[in-house]
Amino acid sequence: MDYHIALVKGDGIGPEIVDNAVRVLEAVGRLCGHTFRFQSYLAGGCAIDQCGKPLPQETIDGCLASDSVLLGEVGGPKWDGLSGDQRPEKALLQLRSVLGLYTNLRPARIYSALKDACPLKRDTAEKGFDLMMVRELTGGIYFGQRGRREGKYGPEAYDTESYSVNEIKRIAKVAFETAKKRRKKLTSIDKANVLETSRLWRSVIHEMAVDYPDVDCSDMLVDNAAMQLIRDPAQFDVVVTTNMFGDILSDEASQITGSIGLLPSASLGETKRGMYEPIHGSAPDIAGTGKANPIATILSAAMMLRYSFDLERESHLIEEAVDAVLAAGWRTADLAGPGQNTLTGSQMTDKIIQEIENRF
Ligand code: NAD
Repeated sequence: MDYHIALVKGDGIGPEIVDNAVRVLEAVGRLCGHTFRFQSYLAGGCAIDQCGKPLPQETIDGCLASDSVLLGEVGGPKWDGLSGDQRPEKALLQLRSVLGLYTNLRPARIYSALKDACPLKRDTAEKGFDLMMVRELTGGIYFGQRGRREGKYGPEAYDTESYSVNEIKRIAKVAFETAKKRRKKLTSIDKANVLETSRLWRSVIHEMAVDYPDVDCSDMLVDNAAMQLIRDPAQFDVVVTTNMFGDILSDEASQITGSIGLLPSASLGETKRGMYEPIHGSAPDIAGTGKANPIATILSAAMMLRYSFDLERESHLIEEAVDAVLAAGWRTADLAGPGQNTLTGSQMTDKIIQEIENRF
């Protein structure tokens, strides 16, 4: 099969990590008989420099015409002084919106070879965890009405949260379906003891649970969830929550794995076309040094194969190769302990490709 992939490399370490992920996709394509065609587009700071705006129309058109989008990262100190709509990050929000990506999937798990990097208690790290955070991405308080006004005690600001039944249903469907394919456990996180949106959220989840009798579905208040993630993350399989709660909890979940350089993400909508990106930023402090860990982007490419192209076997091949390379003790600088030898991002990619070839 032929697949057209739009590459949005972005800023900082974006170009190097995306180039490494492309090499892995090309290797998988070569071995498994698929053709991946790549076309690069500008977004973020590099687009501001070359076109005067963070998201040129050509990038929007190119992403819409593609089968899927692989994204590096945008932003950096050079553009920090710009305001609102001019900032590189605006490109991401706009891309999610034009591509209709309302679901964000973020897997977080501990690699047994990296248990020492986990900041949790030793016995918790030993037990391990493997969870999938399903975050609603285009609704809630980040998209509600906001403003400034004169209040009872002087100037004040407000943001509003609203969710429609349809918005909750469509993200809940993704979560139930995801749970069905995993360990069949779903935790829905809300603040139903206080918020009306959460009470609606909870009632819709309960209604839908009837259609998924094989999924063990329960509710948890967000404050408790923040605590449970640190106390006993192994209790979670799939977690579904709102935009803001998901924003906060998914960062917490990623941090307890021990390394930001390993974690992929997928943003999905109604069609098969998704946007796949590592969860870390553009790491301007190490850009161009060869130190950037490409694994999060390589695993994002693996998610693309699974969710956009239904290439489960190929996706698994990449994930197994990453596991094996880490288990064999290979480390990039961010993963290495004191005195441990390190690989550059490109050398780490070579090891992963070698492992894929050996396993094929
Ligand atoms: P960051 O994630 O870029 O970096 C935090 C730390 O982690 C740095 O020390 C960095 O060197 C390290 N790091 C990150 N990714 C790494 C990798 N793959 N390998 C090795 N080390 C890695 O976060 P930050 O410094 O807060 O942000 C830098 C820029 O990135 C900012 O302009 C921010 O707005 C932007 N950003 C973009 C996105 C995105 O495009 N989705 C997300 C977050 C931050």
